[in-house]
Amino acid sequence: MNATERTIPAGRTDQRWRTAASHWAGGTFWSKATTAVAVFALTVAGLAAGTAPAVAASPTVVTLTFDDANADQLNAAQVLNAKGLKGTFFVPSGVVGTPNYMTVANLQGLAAAGHEIAGHTVTHPDLTTLTTDEATRQICNDRVNLTKWGFRVTNFAYPFAAENAAVEAIAKNCGYNSARGLGDIKTRFSCADCPLAESIPPGNAFNTAAPDEEDSSWTLADLQKSVTQAETGGGGWVQLTFHHVAASSADPLNITPTLLSQFATWLKARPSTTSVKTVNQVIGGTVKPVVAGPAVPPPATNGNLVKNPDLETLVSGVPQCWQQGGYGTNTAAFNVVAPGHAGAVAERLVVTGYASGDAKFLPALDLGGCSPGATAGHTYTISAWYKSTAVTQFALYYRTGIGSWAYWTSSPWFAPATAFQKASWTTPPLPAGASGISFGLNLFANGTLITDDYAMYDTAGAPAP
Ligand SMILES: [Zn+2]
Repeated sequence: MNATERTIPAGRTDQRWRTAASHWAGGTFWSKATTAVAVFALTVAGLAAGTAPAVAASPTVVTLTFDDANADQLNAAQVLNAKGLKGTFFVPSGVVGTPNYMTVANLQGLAAAGHEIAGHTVTHPDLTTLTTDEATRQICNDRVNLTKWGFRVTNFAYPFAAENAAVEAIAKNCGYNSARGLGDIKTRFSCADCPLAESIPPGNAFNTAAPDEEDSSWTLADLQKSVTQAETGGGGWVQLTFHHVAASSADPLNITPTLLSQFATWLKARPSTTSVKTVNQVIGGTVKPVVAGPAVPPPATNGNLVKNPDLETLVSGVPQCWQQGGYGTNTAAFNVVAPGHAGAVAERLVVTGYASGDAKFLPALDLGGCSPGATAGHTYTISAWYKSTAVTQFALYYRTGIGSWAYWTSSPWFAPATAFQKASWTTPPLPAGASGISFGLNLFANGTLITDDYAMYDTAGAPAP
């Protein structure tokens, strides 16, 4: 993979994370590091019994894939349904039903119309940065969630197209039949020396090659070229990846319904050797048993539940188990600074251009690998040391039963401080069904905030003040 694959736009309006994996991606919201380019045989070889024969005019198969469950993908469904085409929708189950994303009912409508619902993890992390247990929860539990909602879930796509051999093995062990990468097929934008199509069947079903994801700089000619270069190059599989489908979008990963419709009309008119299929129609295979990821140990009732609470353990210069968060219209810059409150480092947040929302640094919004576990009905005493040029407060989130994260509540305000001060607050009882907490001191105005030495105690087991 050498392409970006992204969700959770910075400009969204709901109370959630700024970008799921930006932190681990080296601080950039938009791109992933380039890695080795796989080379695939273009010949149609090794066809399994029962699949289409390798005819003289090698077939070209186009798959239209839609990532991240953005609500405006219902526009794509309208276009495809009108043309009688079926697409594949890669769904992070943790966002389903939240603002600006599709609902379970939306997904059921897609499936009823013949589209494929496929896996994309629960919360869309960069899987290569996670422990084996957490990566397994992300991939397997997403398949569990989607299956419980009634879908036949056999194929997967890696968030940010980030994968390695270990992650491929996890996807296979979770019961998937294939997993998609991005950026390993030639376009005018990238990968000039890459193959013109993936082979059928793919050389590695757990890293299928696809062109870069489509963005608003793609023209109808670019879309057509991705198909015609395969047709004239010996055929093969062309998986095109879309994110937003709207007449206009602030997100560059957008295609207008008009352009998608023009492309669909053109596709329908291709020679009979070119067809449009879902991933499942290309990959085939049975529905493997559903496997749940490893359980998270029950939360302790004593001791500080925050992992890496002093921010001293750094991975690629970033505190391990922490992430950037925020929403609304503002510009947030995050940096590790020295010295810390007690240890060597602290985290600095600078907000400029503030119009709305907030920004904060907080424990990773994950399935339990990093975020503090918590018990429904219990109250928690949370604290952190801070210096700030502006008023700050704790913003709190909780993990739901399916592994998504919901905004919970916010603490009272804490005054600006030029020397380190301790902010402390006791939460209300954790809502029923919740299994974890994430919280951070935020800025909701322009300013500079430095935080360090976070703590979260079950109030029953908290040390005396
Ligand atoms: Zn995605």
